Amino acid sequence: MKRNDERYGRALVIGGGIAGPVVGMALQRVGIGSAVFEANPVASDGVGSFLTVASNGLDALRAIDAHLPVVAAGLRTERMVLSSGTGKCLGVIEAGIPLTDGTTTTTIERARLYRALHDQARQRGVSLVHGKRLIDVEDSSDGVVARFADGSEEHGGFLVGADGIWSTARRLLDPDAPRPEYTGLIGVGGLARDVDLDPDPGTFEMMFGLRAFFGFIAIERGRILWFANLPVRPEPARDTLESVSPSAWKAQLLEAFAEDASPARQLIERTDDSAFRLAAMHTLEPPRAWHRGRAVLVGDAAHATSPSSGQGASLAIEDAVELARCLRDASDLESAFHAYQRLREARVRRVLRASRRTNSDKAAGPFARKIRDAVMPLVLRRMASPERQLWLLGHHIDFTGPVGGPRALLAAA
Ligand SMILES: Cc1cc2nc3c(=O)[nH]c(=O)nc-3n(C[C@H](O)[C@H](O)[C@H](O)COP(=O)(O)OP(=O)(O)OC[C@H]3O[C@@H](n4cnc5c(N)ncnc54)[C@H](O)[C@@H]3O)c2cc1C
Repeated sequence: MKRNDERYGRALVIGGGIAGPVVGMALQRVGIGSAVFEANPVASDGVGSFLTVASNGLDALRAIDAHLPVVAAGLRTERMVLSSGTGKCLGVIEAGIPLTDGTTTTTIERARLYRALHDQARQRGVSLVHGKRLIDVEDSSDGVVARFADGSEEHGGFLVGADGIWSTARRLLDPDAPRPEYTGLIGVGGLARDVDLDPDPGTFEMMFGLRAFFGFIAIERGRILWFANLPVRPEPARDTLESVSPSAWKAQLLEAFAEDASPARQLIERTDDSAFRLAAMHTLEPPRAWHRGRAVLVGDAAHATSPSSGQGASLAIEDAVELARCLRDASDLESAFHAYQRLREARVRRVLRASRRTNSDKAAGPFARKIRDAVMPLVLRRMASPERQLWLLGHHIDFTGPVGGPRALLAAA
């Protein structure tokens, strides 16, 4: 049997966010060479706010021995405490299901996560090239050509679109693919300093406020990461979002949390404008086919759950690892891509459904809010049992086992 890199040729991985470097590392594990092409001209230090990589995402990283640097750069996150705007505790749930080495869900600043993944990929010899924005793909019987905005092109055996929710690769694969849908929420986040508050380490506190949702976790005494989800309709244009100054957003947030019994206002006030990030929150239904010819999609390019699920990064990592396993075990690209979509689709759709429900809770009106606050403790009590969370947080990819193994057969049943 031919070696995998001879069978498939080099992979052109588009996008050096979260999925991209993991694809590079996972493909290397199964003997396939790759290069990752990222549109940003420089490494994405300082991008975005922070996110949680759930235990299932870390488990997938662990399959390729890549989880420890991520864990080391983040905050161990053991539980989430949810409360209402009046300060009433609605429930406590586990944030993750610990792996056998004790690792569990980790909250990490986005820039640190990128760095932890990029550094590892580079150390393992995966090439990461910045300043390469994909604009076109040409597929032929013996290879694929990626064309970039700087006029250069790259030839490879196949292409992996890991270029995020606004993916160019997806549009080129299928111009009729679903487009991102606005959730009705703007996500704002920041790092508050010199805060007179000493929350439990390892606890993510979250509040369904009267007018907006708020969450925070302590990095150390006095330094706290926070985020808010603010219902805003209709969707503001990107330019409009960017043109509003951090101080104007702060004023809007301070007003949104004015009536809540939470430390939201203190944390917002103690956040420097330069440590203040915001983005409209979107979801993306997966296209009918996640692949065409010699190209395949992973991560947010293929499907995006809203940030409310806390699963986007983890699903992207799972995709990357599962794709490599399918390529290892299949006889050709078409069957590998087909097996990959079959293994991933039902799970991804289930997470999407669950995150849609959370979004509507966050944007609830006065009546729905009353019902939510009455029903939520019961729902959370049920969710608190590890069995209920197992399908999500305990998902395990048997990387060394065959794709057609018992687990895959059960999942497909
Ligand atoms: C406010 C907010 C909070 C979130 N919180 C969480 C959370 O707590 N937990 C969680 O799991 N997820 C969270 N997410 C979702 C998570 O960030 C995404 O699911 C995750 O980043 C997807 O990884 P990815 O690699 O597929 O895409 P991305 O991380 O978006 O990476 C895509 C990369 O492709 C590059 N790119 C784009 N176009 C091109 C092109 N044409 N050519 C070359 N490169 C290109 C981009 O520059 C980018 O670097 C959050 C998202 C937002 C917006």
